[in-house]
Amino acid sequence: MNEPPAKRTKEIKCYASALGNCSHIQSEEHYISRSFFSNNMITVEGQKWLNGKTKTVSYKKVGLKILCEYHNNLLHPIDTAIAGVGRKIDALLEKQIKRSHLPRGIPWKKDIYEINGFVFEQWMIKAVVGCMFENENLRWHQDNSNASSPPIEILQAQFGLTKLKYPMGLYQVMGVGEQFQNEQRAGIVHLSHIETKGVVGALVNFRNLQFLMYLHNEPDLGIFESWNGTTFGTGYNEPVYRPTEFTFATKGMISSILKFDWQSSPINLP
Ligand SMILES: [Zn+2]
Repeated sequence: MNEPPAKRTKEIKCYASALGNCSHIQSEEHYISRSFFSNNMITVEGQKWLNGKTKTVSYKKVGLKILCEYHNNLLHPIDTAIAGVGRKIDALLEKQIKRSHLPRGIPWKKDIYEINGFVFEQWMIKAVVGCMFENENLRWHQDNSNASSPPIEILQAQFGLTKLKYPMGLYQVMGVGEQFQNEQRAGIVHLSHIETKGVVGALVNFRNLQFLMYLHNEPDLGIFESWNGTTFGTGYNEPVYRPTEFTFATKGMISSILKFDWQSSPINLP
């Protein structure tokens, strides 16, 4: 007697499938961790130079069926780590505001906060890749693949198997003397290549710190505007590759230093 053919399981969508070991359970991935949100809302923009469509989303709406359960679970330590980063920056900003109200001449000891730069990059990649699913027209410049199959070296860096190689990685994009805004903002804007319109990275506003997450292997970043409208590129402000520290001052004195540690390793997710 012939056995009936095994019932086909519903196709699992997982953008990390190239890494292997996918489970047969679909999960919903919150591609942007809760700690990224200020006021529970963030702005996600489409390609900066194409149609520039802006979308504001709330935390509840950023869950998408884009990873299998196995790969989604692997990413949890990154969310936990980034929540810690958010708390450090919140504490730092709170202290700076308090100090700005102190009478002049009262001394303080500057605070030092440290962040693992590569783990921050892992989280950035996760957010940038996840946001691509919000706009079905977005494709990767690197190999013209769509959102559901990111270039392998980007996936490997996201899961901590390798580190991104220059010029890929995190850049600080704040102009000289650019002030931190007190108004809390958070957002992600994809940047596209001028010819192919493919995604080469994204501008990310994290607690009003401005970053470029560059995910393309050509060293020419071109000319672009930061989230705050400052122009970057040859002849303009220079983006700083893997910044080592941000200094926060008030009343002409340093209040805190936020250090990015680039000696540690990324979180290796098997
Ligand atoms: Zn998977």
